[in-house]
Amino acid sequence: MTDLFSRSISYLRLSLTDRCNLRCIYCVTEDESSGCLIKLKQEELLTYEELLWVVRVAVAMGITKVRLTGGEPLVRRGVLGFIRELMRIEGLGDVRITTNGVLLADCAKELLEAGVNKVNISLDSLKPERVRDITGVDCFDAVWRAIETVLKLGFAPVKLNMVVMRHINDDEILDFARMSQRLPLQVRFIEFMPIGVSSRWNVDTYISSDEIMERISALGELIPIQKGQNDGPARVFRLGHDSAGSLGFISPLSHHFCDRCNRLRLTSAGSLRSCLLHDAEVDLRSVLRNQPTDEAIRATLIEAIRNKPRGHQLQERMLRSGSDCHGRMSRIGG
Ligand code: SAM
Repeated sequence: MTDLFSRSISYLRLSLTDRCNLRCIYCVTEDESSGCLIKLKQEELLTYEELLWVVRVAVAMGITKVRLTGGEPLVRRGVLGFIRELMRIEGLGDVRITTNGVLLADCAKELLEAGVNKVNISLDSLKPERVRDITGVDCFDAVWRAIETVLKLGFAPVKLNMVVMRHINDDEILDFARMSQRLPLQVRFIEFMPIGVSSRWNVDTYISSDEIMERISALGELIPIQKGQNDGPARVFRLGHDSAGSLGFISPLSHHFCDRCNRLRLTSAGSLRSCLLHDAEVDLRSVLRNQPTDEAIRATLIEAIRNKPRGHQLQERMLRSGSDCHGRMSRIGG
């Protein structure tokens, strides 16, 4: 699948649910934080059968890598059975999961047995009270137990996602960097993006990857690492020669990677979204329910890819109208 700008689309991200067991400050919308949960109804989610069908068609068209995300993918009932079915799809060798880690320790072994050994875990602080303040839940111990468990079981790579926010958790950048020297995981510093109805983003909380790298350089040399084909957009380094792990910098705003973007997203509402930072979506759920044929699914995937913009141009758009990206992160999945 090649788009209008000669980018080959080989990576599909599936948001399995918009429900989550955390209420992170950058993800929860204003209406939700005042207690009114705007969540999809069960019948609005794609069923596992529908999802498997879409993935089968997409793999036949050239998708080689699938990531499960959410909301929190591990809160959806029956997710392990779904993953086992997904792994049986011929031609799809690479299935990964992005999770907040809260439920991971207890199902990590089953995930591994199903064939999923690559995991991204989100953790924005190493201080339990701060994690509670950011996520609304006292969950640091559970997440830490998950990290220890997946490392012990031999998951690889294990990536830790930290969204860096000035005055909120930026004083922990060096602690996270040091952790990559001790543990065989990749700590990824993600630039805070102005996405969602209330992401709490503003120019003061935003920190560029360049600034983060500069701060980390005080600890030692950042040695670039050659990346594999399926490694994604992070710029990856080792902090000194003896580090057990690595550091990744994801810079959607300061060094955007649109020219190399190989992603397509399927939201938990069943819409195809060709750019994280553009709200344009194509409704696949209606197609699945009204014209349930391989051909119709294929045509809808092609339509979504044709609509993929050359770049997100978020800075330019923000200068014109402020953040105009109103998608709900919990439906899109990051
Ligand atoms: N619940 C799962 C988790 O916590 O990883 C998956 C969904 S979550 C939306 C996926 C990733 O998006 C997380 O690493 C989260 O920190 C990141 N994220 C959410 N909002 C963001 C924002 N405004 N800017 C940058 N990253 C964001």
